[in-house]
Amino acid sequence: MKDYYDILGVSKNASSEEIKKAYRKLAIKYHPDKNPNNKKEAEEKFKEAAEAYDILSNPEKRQRYDQFGHTGVHQGASMNMEDIFSNFGDIFGDAFGSAFGFGRSSKRGSSIKGSDLRIRVKLNLEEIAKGVEKTVKVKRMKIAHGTKFKNCNKCKGSGHITQITNTILGRMQTTTTCNICQGIGEIIDFIPKGANNQGLIKEEELVKIKIPAGLNDGIQLKVTGKGNQAPFGGESGDLIVKIEEIPHNLLKREGNNLHYDLYISIPEAVLGAYKEIPIIGGKVMIKIDQGTQSGKILRLKSKGLPNIESYEKGDILIHVNVWTPKKLTKEQKEFFEKMKKNENFLPQPNYSEKSFFDRVREMFS
Ligand SMILES: [Zn+2]
Repeated sequence: MKDYYDILGVSKNASSEEIKKAYRKLAIKYHPDKNPNNKKEAEEKFKEAAEAYDILSNPEKRQRYDQFGHTGVHQGASMNMEDIFSNFGDIFGDAFGSAFGFGRSSKRGSSIKGSDLRIRVKLNLEEIAKGVEKTVKVKRMKIAHGTKFKNCNKCKGSGHITQITNTILGRMQTTTTCNICQGIGEIIDFIPKGANNQGLIKEEELVKIKIPAGLNDGIQLKVTGKGNQAPFGGESGDLIVKIEEIPHNLLKREGNNLHYDLYISIPEAVLGAYKEIPIIGGKVMIKIDQGTQSGKILRLKSKGLPNIESYEKGDILIHVNVWTPKKLTKEQKEFFEKMKKNENFLPQPNYSEKSFFDRVREMFS
């Protein structure tokens, strides 16, 4: 292999500026387009120079090369022409680098999508439990009636412009995105009154949203294609719907379960009672057994919220609280004084009675 310094024709002490200068000279001399008669040989030399420059222009690689020779900087594969050209920006300036035609090109309409719109929808517990269809008013950007398009004159509808330029390396073919239509291929021919310069106008539209049962507060639904329309008939954006739960005034939600605090009087706890319990969309009567302890949790199976991922439903958990009066009449006071020493009124928790902690554990299992 040839010595990199020899290839560029510089001394071992050459400055980076000298190396750059030497490479630029060789790149111009051996550019394939400049040597139509011995293209292959020129390309060889051109690549050779590019490889030498790649090593010697990098201080770290250059040091390794100086120390270990070619083995120190061995490159797995030789550079291809695209690599070489993509590095040209560094030494010839960006304008020149892009003149080789590696700029990005845009397909008609491909990059243009309308923006998303966001709304909030408030749901009560009944709507969350059953699912609901809501009709909402949305202000979308739409292509105004009467907006007309025509093919871009500059690029003839292709979205890009190909140019032949004479450069120091010879004739170059350049492809760039059309600056008139931004790669779309069409421009606006007529903008109706009220529309913006892309031919879009804000219009109110009623959008139906199907909301499935069992959603949680904060969840976002997407209605595809109901965001803003894209100019030039591109893909519309989406409508993002954020669900907000209106808290129920009696039932407290916890996942798919609902909790209800029931207050009963001392006589009701002692004698038993029937009590009305609110459920989603109605009420039910439940029986409080004679001798019900405060803190007991009753469970209404499957009266909670549906699970969005299964057919199971949560429960309603009724927390029984015995209400202790603060004011008593003289007679009532006497009655309870009498009962104080009565053995029926002495707390006698037995092992069949679950402790508070057991009940809590059961509730969350
Ligand atoms: Zn154009």
